[in-house]
Amino acid sequence: MSKPITITNVRTILTAPETIPLVVVKIETSEPGLYGLGCATFTQRYLAVATAIDQYLAPYLIGKDVANIEDIWQTCQVNGYWRNGPITNNALSGVDMALWDIKGKVAGMPVYDLLGGKARAGAAVYRHADGKSLTEVEENVRKYMEQGLLYIRCQWGGYGGRIDQIKAPEGAPEGAYFDPHGYARNTVKLFDHIRNAVGDDIELLHDVHERLAPIEAVRLSKNLEPYRLFFLEDALSPEAVDWFAVMRQQSATPIAMGELFTHPQEWLPLIQNRLIDFIRCHISTIGGITPAKKLAHLCEAFGIRTAWHGPGDVSPVGHAANLHIDLSSYNFGVQEWWGPSDLIKEVFPGTPELRGGYLYANDKPGLGIDIDEKLAAKYGGTIDINISIGYPFLHNDEGLTDKAKN
Ligand code: MG
Repeated sequence: MSKPITITNVRTILTAPETIPLVVVKIETSEPGLYGLGCATFTQRYLAVATAIDQYLAPYLIGKDVANIEDIWQTCQVNGYWRNGPITNNALSGVDMALWDIKGKVAGMPVYDLLGGKARAGAAVYRHADGKSLTEVEENVRKYMEQGLLYIRCQWGGYGGRIDQIKAPEGAPEGAYFDPHGYARNTVKLFDHIRNAVGDDIELLHDVHERLAPIEAVRLSKNLEPYRLFFLEDALSPEAVDWFAVMRQQSATPIAMGELFTHPQEWLPLIQNRLIDFIRCHISTIGGITPAKKLAHLCEAFGIRTAWHGPGDVSPVGHAANLHIDLSSYNFGVQEWWGPSDLIKEVFPGTPELRGGYLYANDKPGLGIDIDEKLAAKYGGTIDINISIGYPFLHNDEGLTDKAKN
């Protein structure tokens, strides 16, 4: 029996080339030059995740055999006794993805091959067409259509509607305020406009981002039915999932759910009862590739497709993991894609490439992605987050801009 390859070092790398804090885990091994990368990005609590990795997981993992991903995943999940929270799941994901990356490198195979091989040559993506007016959204939709995109998410104003029209009481603290009725009315107007303007040969999507009361979300789902959405995303909050049964009875608009889920008991009832059409978890927040692939298989049995969360607050390593699962999953639906800057592609060589509406993986062993640690350090350290709002926001001439578009 050959000597096992063991873990010699586990560390987090914090970097924010696009001003969004990213958490990447690097696992080094007893094999010279052999290492793996994983995504543990929970932007809004990134230091807590880094602590969980460096202080709690790393000491446990040193000396472990890199081959035993399943055993390591299960043990790390329960050895803190309390489990399935977003901080510990993200920490575990960083380790899990890095071990899959290492396993691929040892095997000389891309991770999608380890997961069963390609079920498709490329993964269709959707991108976000936003705008402050109907015309601006339409222009952005047409821009993406010219680039060959087949799926486009449309939003009029920020999440929950147009920020400049939102009224808050005098003396209200800084924060996010919404006009749910105005937002719901405008969203129907938006899809009436866009569907009539661009025709039927393009798939349209929308993200409610949990901004409506449950019954208002049900009504929006019904009112959007004539515009044949590919899906309506996060129409309800995780706390209101029982309302999906009502929504299902009232409307045939396909439903995508799950980017805030952390615990299997959040998705199981929705899948078992066929209450959603697409599962779209943030893969690092459920614990990485190991649980995501199991979830994809579970969904396949119930006719539910995947649409993993893919905004700017997933690191390129996490996007690569999404893509390897997409390519190897029979029940892949669509992949959210944020569009990396040139800088982020420099920091993360091997970032997947979008061409004509499809995302492609390179054929390198493992996840096929690396990190330029020197460049990452230039954008490293701690990054200010507006805790009162909870997202990294930048102030510009137009007021608050949501940087972590998801
Ligand atoms: Mg979303």
